[in-house]
Amino acid sequence: MRVFSIPMRTRFRGVTRREGVLVRGPAGWGEFSPFAEYGPAESARWLAAAREAAFQGWPEPVRDRIPVNVTVPAVGPEQAFAMVRASGCATAKVKVAERGQGDVDDLARVEAVRAAIGPAGKVRVDVNGGWDVEHAVRMVRELDRFGLEYVEQPCATLEELAAVRRRVDVPVAADESIRRAEDPLRVRAAGAADIAVLKVQPLGGVRAALKVAEATGLPVVVSSAVETSVGLAAGVALAAALPELPYACGLATLSLLEGDVAAEPLRAEGGVLPVRRPAVDEAALARYEIDDEGWRRRMDGAAAVLDRVGR
Ligand SMILES: [Mg+2]
Repeated sequence: MRVFSIPMRTRFRGVTRREGVLVRGPAGWGEFSPFAEYGPAESARWLAAAREAAFQGWPEPVRDRIPVNVTVPAVGPEQAFAMVRASGCATAKVKVAERGQGDVDDLARVEAVRAAIGPAGKVRVDVNGGWDVEHAVRMVRELDRFGLEYVEQPCATLEELAAVRRRVDVPVAADESIRRAEDPLRVRAAGAADIAVLKVQPLGGVRAALKVAEATGLPVVVSSAVETSVGLAAGVALAAALPELPYACGLATLSLLEGDVAAEPLRAEGGVLPVRRPAVDEAALARYEIDDEGWRRRMDGAAAVLDRVGR
């Protein structure tokens, strides 16, 4: 196991460095990078994903290119405009409802993104559960002036998502509401979403995520957990194996990191990622490798949980 710590270009989820563990097996490299607040039970699924990558490999792809969105963090409008233009993507995901900012900041950012991407481009917003129902309904209607493809996780709970969905015309996507295998059925039963955002590591691997996709019965957007090329490759494998892929995926997140562990990183070009699996480059990894007892313990804790449930 090799521990990495890569500085982030922009603060994300309150962190300034992305850290995790790379594991190597007969099938290739796997990434284990649960966020700091996750305990052993939750982290066990992240480890199952890393083990699948390293020891089992992934299902056969049905496509060889994945359209991706540029992710615009809670930056000012000028920077948002520049990020979208530089990306070459035809779809942009804009983070809104950032702590310490107001609705005017969100409106200005989304307006700038629409201007940058042009009338034919797609603009979606990600709220990360930051609004209550009334706030969400008001803001979705206001932001839809700029034409929204969908709104991702406008509120925290399924009941709130369902209430928003009944009151706005913009489709609602569930992200944080789908983290465990049993969640999709709840989303479906609550009528809480039109679209499911799925991430490989929190769901326990590509195969587990494919099962979740089937269970939701909803169109899927594959998103990253802001991983290195090793973790992103698993997201690409999921997107490549889904029977249908109607939306651009949130896998162009490597640009949020200052560097990567691969010689040929999984970087989008012209809004598209190729379906491939980059190899870890020793020289690249050496720049970001750290010796960290904490990560060793986290991996042991997650492994103990997996061993108990027999995976
Ligand atoms: Mg999200």
